[in-house]
This record gives sequence, C-alpha cells and structure tokens, in this order.
Amino acid sequence: MSSLARERRLLVFHTGGTIGMREGPRGFAPSRGALVQTIAATPQLHDPSVVIGERDGRPVLTTPPFASGLRVRYELLEHEPLLDSANLDLSHWARFAEDIGRFHDEFDGFVVLHGTDTMAFTASALSFMLEGLAKPVVLTGSQIPLVRLRNDGLDNFLGALGLAALHPIPEVMLYFHHKLLRGNRASKHDASSLDAFDSPNVPPLAVVGIDVEVTEALRLSPDERPFRVCTELCPHVASLRIYPGITAEVLANFLRPPLEGLVLETYGSGNGPERADILDVLREAVGRGVLVLNVTQCPRGEVRADYQVGRALAEAGVIAGGDLTSEAAMAKLALVLGQRAREGWSREEQVRRLQTPIRGEMS
Ligand code: ASP
Repeated sequence: MSSLARERRLLVFHTGGTIGMREGPRGFAPSRGALVQTIAATPQLHDPSVVIGERDGRPVLTTPPFASGLRVRYELLEHEPLLDSANLDLSHWARFAEDIGRFHDEFDGFVVLHGTDTMAFTASALSFMLEGLAKPVVLTGSQIPLVRLRNDGLDNFLGALGLAALHPIPEVMLYFHHKLLRGNRASKHDASSLDAFDSPNVPPLAVVGIDVEVTEALRLSPDERPFRVCTELCPHVASLRIYPGITAEVLANFLRPPLEGLVLETYGSGNGPERADILDVLREAVGRGVLVLNVTQCPRGEVRADYQVGRALAEAGVIAGGDLTSEAAMAKLALVLGQRAREGWSREEQVRRLQTPIRGEMS
C-alpha cells in the first residue's frame, strides 16, 4: 500500500478555548502560536521523527500510526483572533461554516478546536448551516489546557483526530471524554467534571473504550442536498427560562423588537402559567411574526401536549419544539428567521421547518 493510502488528511481549525490556552495575569486566555508548540512537544499528536511541514502558512503535523497502521496528517489553521468561546457570536458561526465550506472538497475531514462554554451552540449551528455535508466535522476542546501535565485535551484531541480519520461519519459531531455525540443533540452539563457533555435525548454515536463502538442504528441517511453553506442567521433570538411569578411586563419587554425569535424554556413537558396576561403578551408577539419555540427546561425529555397549561401556550401560538435542546432550538430559530424574508415563507412554513428534523436534531 502506498504511503498516501496509509494516511488521512484532516484540517484542524483552532478557534480558541481552554485546550490551547496559557495562564496569564488575569487567568486562562488564548495565546497565539502556543498550541502548535505544545502539539510539537506531544509525541502522540505529532511523531517527532517526521519533520513538521508547512502549507499555505499552516503547519502540517503527523500523528504516529494508529492501531490500523494509518497516520493522520493534519494542517492547523489558527483563527485570528483566538477566542474564549464565551465571546463568540453568530458571525463567528458563519465564519467557521464558510471555512469548512472553502476546504470541504480538499480534506478527508475536519476537527474544530473550540472552547467548551458554547461548543454545543456552535455544533448545533454548524449542523444546520452545512447542507449536504459529506465529510466528518468533529468539535472538541478540553477543561484543562493541553500544556498542563494532567489534562483532558490530549485524549479529546487525539480521539477527535482518530474518529474523523478512521470512523468518518458525515455529520457535525462533538467529541468529549470518550463520547462522540451528535452535535445538535449535545449540551454542556458539567462545569467541573472532565465528562462535560451529554446528549440527553439520544445515545452517543460512538463510545471510545478499548475499541471504538459505533452505534450504527443512529446513522442518518446521507444528506443528498448539494453541498452549500448557509450563513443567513438572524441575530435577534433569545432564550427565556420560565419561572414562578414571571410577570407579563417582563415577558412583554423581552418580546419587544428587535426580538424575532424566542426559545421559551418551560416546565416539565412544556408547561407554563395559564394566565390571561401572559397568554395575551404571547399572542400579541406571535401576531407580529415573533416565533416562540417551546423546549423543556428539564435536562432530559420533550414537550408534549399533556396538560391544559401546555395546551394554552400552544393555543397562544407557542410552537412545540419536541426534544430539541435549548442550544439547537436557538440555532434553528436563527436559521429559519434568517431565511424567511428572502424565501417568503408563511408562518405555517416557518413552523413546519422548525418542527421537521433537518439533521437528526429532534426525534
Ligand atoms: N471559557 C472557555 C471557553 O469556552 C472554557 C473552555 O474552553 O473549557 O472558551
């Protein structure tokens, strides 16, 4: 077998996040050029017997062979500026998607190094923005920087490279702490543990133990749409967690222009207060074209029309979001709202799109 066939070529985007951070006077912060130095000094991530290459200004790194004998040769594209993911906005999602689009045909797959705080939002958004995706896109990061002796970045990064190269599933995924999750199903559920992410309503796509166990039953049918990057996102979206005693004034202020879409995080299976003043405010906003999408504030489960109080919300025009995570709901709202004017979609069509699974994000 030729040496080329014994390699897979990946592009790794370094967007920022703890994995590549260094400790500065005001705490951990991204540091330009630091990650490649750490990788070069980590023999599992770059084989010291291979000379670090360069292509279009990007370092080209090579892993030692995996158990199958395959090496991963990857280029590292560092974003400018590197960001703590708490500083991301929708324009960054668009840039990440465009970058993947630019290189889609050139590489076997992509790894996106990203901060953990908003990784689930980015993973959800990319899954919707990359139509007809034919390559794996794996987001990962860490809770402890790679530069530290004891860290989770090495396992996460090496696992993401191995999965993207050797078990390529053509969708946007999030790999963390031995679990490969569907990106638009993932949520950060733990700020302290290295097991920071969960996919509350579907099992992992793969679990990495002694072997890599891929759950074939979860595979999506291939996305047959022509490859296209959709970057039209409406930034006027928000989420509101319902709480006992929420006043109509607070809700009305929330729903004022420029807001166009609201993820309403409700109790249990989609319940909220059945109060005339609250329902009037919701009806008025819906009448102005605001999309209000109902998801449960419980970590697991779905919105169902089981209770009178839940039905009252639906009758006021609140859209049932099934078992969407809050992150996926926010990203999907931004996408539908971003396209509705150009496409001339009626409210019925917008609701239909929100309630129809695009890339496995809802059951
Ligand atoms: N604040 C960091 C970030 O999201 C946290 C992390 O990466 O774990 O960029």
